[in-house]
Amino acid sequence: MAQIIDGKKISAEIKEELKAKVAQLKEQGIEGTLAVIQVGNDPASSVYVNNKKRACEFIGIHSKSFELPEETTQEELLKLIDELNNDKSVNGILVQLPVPAHIDEKTIINAISPKKDVDGFHPENVGSLTIGQEGFVSCTPAGIIELLKRSDVEIAGKNCVVVGRSNIVGKPMALLMLRENATVTITHSRTANLKEVCCNADILIVAIGKKEFITGDYIKEGAVVIDVGIHRDENNKLAGDVKYDEAEVKASKITPVPGGVGPMTIAMLMNNCVEAMTR
Ligand code: NDP
Repeated sequence: MAQIIDGKKISAEIKEELKAKVAQLKEQGIEGTLAVIQVGNDPASSVYVNNKKRACEFIGIHSKSFELPEETTQEELLKLIDELNNDKSVNGILVQLPVPAHIDEKTIINAISPKKDVDGFHPENVGSLTIGQEGFVSCTPAGIIELLKRSDVEIAGKNCVVVGRSNIVGKPMALLMLRENATVTITHSRTANLKEVCCNADILIVAIGKKEFITGDYIKEGAVVIDVGIHRDENNKLAGDVKYDEAEVKASKITPVPGGVGPMTIAMLMNNCVEAMTR
């Protein structure tokens, strides 16, 4: 039976470490402020935004909240981002995604100063990751690297298969695993023989957004399985992209849903905020 990789516990450890770091920075007169912008009132986004504000409070940085109405124009949003880019008291800027359909997500991401882009979505930060330069890294993949390292999973030289190639999870995940010297395969909806490819993985990272798609027969005996997916059913029960009961009998280590990757995303966002303070 697989050992559980406890994301809740590891994220709590990281937040404690960050809290201590922030206290030290404060002694040197360095304060941190994260600006969080939400357009519209999508309930799921409101939950995420509140969790982020709470995490800021916990580690000891300020959060400035901008709750804008659904009908906010792209120009109005860009003007606010420009003001925050130029506000020296703000170190980090985050626009909660998705934005309403009349606003172009790419334009918004590109408008945030790369130096304040704590989500790590700006093309300049993605480019830095690609060529191994310093920059903000997308929080969910960065969190997965922490989960692996803090669970003593050896990465260098291992076969890693990443299922999914989205800009926020799959692609940066593959780049980070490459940086850690894994041999990386990226798969997607057009991959031929996906099951066969997955069965080669020592470390299988799944981010496809399809509930319990990865069954036991996709998993090599003893593999480490990381499940990024989040799906909520009508009874509010959460499940991942991996069929957990089948996976846990084959894997050596596995992340549960909930309590695996999910809690790490906010911890790494806080890590990026602290990094922004020190730059
Ligand atoms: P996207 O929908 O943006 O990307 C899904 C990827 O999976 C695409 O690259 C797609 O391929 C690929 N895919 C879809 N179907 C298949 C298939 N049958 N076989 C192989 N590949 C397939 O999703 P995200 O990356 O944004 O998110 C993935 C999951 O992770 C979601 O459940 C999401 O809710 C969750 N998530 C969780 C986070 C957390 O904090 N825990 C953070 C972010 C996301 P193609 O490119 O060819 O279309």
